[in-house]
Amino acid sequence: MTNNKGLLIILSAPSGCGKDTVFQAIKKLRNDVVESVSATTRKPREGEVEGVNYYFKSESDFQLMVVNDELLEYARYNNCYYGTPISGVEKAINDGKICFLIIDVQGAQSILKVRPDAVSIFLLPPSLEVLEKRLVNRSTNDIDDVKNRMKIAQREIDMAPLYKYTVVNDDLDECVNTINNIINKELLTLNSKEIK
Ligand code: 5GP
Repeated sequence: MTNNKGLLIILSAPSGCGKDTVFQAIKKLRNDVVESVSATTRKPREGEVEGVNYYFKSESDFQLMVVNDELLEYARYNNCYYGTPISGVEKAINDGKICFLIIDVQGAQSILKVRPDAVSIFLLPPSLEVLEKRLVNRSTNDIDDVKNRMKIAQREIDMAPLYKYTVVNDDLDECVNTINNIINKELLTLNSKEIK
């Protein structure tokens, strides 16, 4: 009887790089993919659902999760806390799922310290010019907001070499295929190690 363990995948990308679109496309392609639902102190945006997009917490409830060691990692981003609950990740891995953590670069580094087996993927835009155009097109904010996001993006892109894989999101299908191939290769390596 096979009892394959799942795989933990960290996916990071600068804002505007299309990580949610890429993740949704991978989910359509494979039925073994799930996303870890993070806890956050950020207020819900319109349309966001408790337990689906995030677990929305007060600062004191979030601190309680930290004190009780319920989070694999947490980080402060834009004046709010974000963290990865351990329970959801453990369940997904034990169920043999491919569990995606879609988190920022700080969170990725914290996860790799406690879970060096996690497979880290950084999504790159085709160029900074294209990223800026995407941000301008989708931004409801002013040019300063775009400039600020571009500054953060540059700092994040500098961290890309710390990831095991970097994938350019130019053509969506190509990008999704590349990530799918990475998953298949890593699953093969993981499960052949377990057989030994
Ligand atoms: P947003 O507020 O736009 O949903 O997310 C802001 C940032 O927080 C994004 O870069 C997102 O990937 C990151 N993020 C979401 N969940 C977590 C988490 O559990 N841990 C960390 N470190 N970052 C997270």
